[in-house]
Amino acid sequence: MSNISSLLEKLNNYYSFKRRTTLNRMRENPDPFKILIGCLVSINIRDEVCEEILENLFNKVRNFQDIVEINILELETILYKARYRKIKARTLKSVSKEILERFNGVVPDEKENLLSIKGIGPKTCNVVLNFAFNKRVIPIDSNTLRIANRIGWISTKKNEDVEKLLLDNLNEEMIKNANAIFMLHGKEVCVPVSPFCTKCPIEKNCMKIGVDKRR
Ligand code: SF4
Repeated sequence: MSNISSLLEKLNNYYSFKRRTTLNRMRENPDPFKILIGCLVSINIRDEVCEEILENLFNKVRNFQDIVEINILELETILYKARYRKIKARTLKSVSKEILERFNGVVPDEKENLLSIKGIGPKTCNVVLNFAFNKRVIPIDSNTLRIANRIGWISTKKNEDVEKLLLDNLNEEMIKNANAIFMLHGKEVCVPVSPFCTKCPIEKNCMKIGVDKRR
């Protein structure tokens, strides 16, 4: 087992499944519509808020047609706790309209098609491909980039470099879990400023590159 794989395994054992994000829990029973819409809603908001919003939203809408038809003010009201709710409401509507018009209301399962939809960026694309379709990709966010650099696995500012490194070193099961593990570790221990190295399960294996202050 490579060093990267064994350290991810350690982190995986440290964080329980229940603490994983709403989006990560949704992959237990994957619905591409819900995962795509959930991912667009989840951008830049706390997971607790995301969970509440998605529960309300999916009580009202069951498919892309419902999102196109729902009144924009009602949609903004459902999203009221989300940052940039007006922008998000417009994005949900435009993405839904495009999927209905170009893909007959079916979420595409290919990177090129997903990225061709206005409002879907590389991270959302990889979340959908991995969480909904089990494709061999990893969504990379700021937590993953920061942690991989701090540990000393890589020195890069590019998400795609980190994705390639992880894909080259992780088995299928860990590829599935990677996003959840990095999100939890980045939120609870390896936080952006002054990480909690003293309680980190992989402290002995981490070079702490660029970490000036730690707890
Ligand atoms: S030892 Fe510190 S810098 Fe390294 S992964 Fe753990 S919390 Fe992050």
